[in-house]
Amino acid sequence: MIRKKDGIHFNKGEVVADSRKASGDLNVVTHAHFDHMHQESSNEVICSEKTGKLFQARLEEKFKYSTEAEGLELIDSGHILGSSAVKFEMKGETVLYTGDASTRDRAYLEGFNPPEADVLVMETTYGIPNYRFPPQEKVEKNIRAWIEENRDSPLILFGYSLGKAQKIQYIVEKFSDRPLIAHGSVKEMNDVVEEVSNLEFSARPYGENKEVLEDNGILIAPSRSSQADWVEKVVDEYGALKAGFSGWAVSDSFKYRGGYDETFVLSDHCDFDELVEMVEKVDPEKVYTLHGFDEAFASYLKKEHGVDARALKRNQTSLSDF
Ligand SMILES: [Zn+2]
Repeated sequence: MIRKKDGIHFNKGEVVADSRKASGDLNVVTHAHFDHMHQESSNEVICSEKTGKLFQARLEEKFKYSTEAEGLELIDSGHILGSSAVKFEMKGETVLYTGDASTRDRAYLEGFNPPEADVLVMETTYGIPNYRFPPQEKVEKNIRAWIEENRDSPLILFGYSLGKAQKIQYIVEKFSDRPLIAHGSVKEMNDVVEEVSNLEFSARPYGENKEVLEDNGILIAPSRSSQADWVEKVVDEYGALKAGFSGWAVSDSFKYRGGYDETFVLSDHCDFDELVEMVEKVDPEKVYTLHGFDEAFASYLKKEHGVDARALKRNQTSLSDF
């Protein structure tokens, strides 16, 4: 009934979610990250208005989408702007597929408030007890303290260019008037986000405004570039400090692997406790886990909560062979 192939296939393709090809009767895209993106979309997909607009702004070709389909309900999932979980009925049972989700309010986003369902298909990126995040206020307080402590150094703050980078800027701009500049891919996403929301970012393009680093400016850059040659040059030339932002920052290895001077636990996903809480709220009869610590979380649910749970692996069937 539920298969993981290219995306998640429900009931022989009646509903297909987050696939690269629109191969189902109904095709849902939960959010505008590239790993959930239709690469060759000729059919119409179902997504939220904001996700559709984000795709249109990111894609060269025309992106056709519809914001509703009979029997499907899109519910804000709190991961990035426009991200949605989807709820529908399958063989007399209600199914909730979370896509990527976060239940905590942070920056300009409200957390996911999951509805009840019989079957829950959920992301479990941080599905082990090691990944418990501090309260959001504490995270933001730590960010502020570090930035103010280092008022005499230029800073480079790294985050995923769509979603995380905008939240970092939003948080920093609340308390700091230091000049901000954004590296190409972040600036591009700032513009796209401004187009589809009422958010505004003050960051100027990095290329033409490098000199603000001499005035202890702050550069926002994509996380994948944290150890790029151009970054090392900026560090050498301006004495800049580097900070990384991610749920993985709970573990010290994130700091070493990224070559960061400081890291902050700012995540767009649920932590372990929030995942457990989500399951309690949905109160499902069956749970399928996806991504990250999928198997560990499923066996935790089974053992500690008596919930019928298992990891959804590529090409495995479910329900029937449970
Ligand atoms: Zn995502």
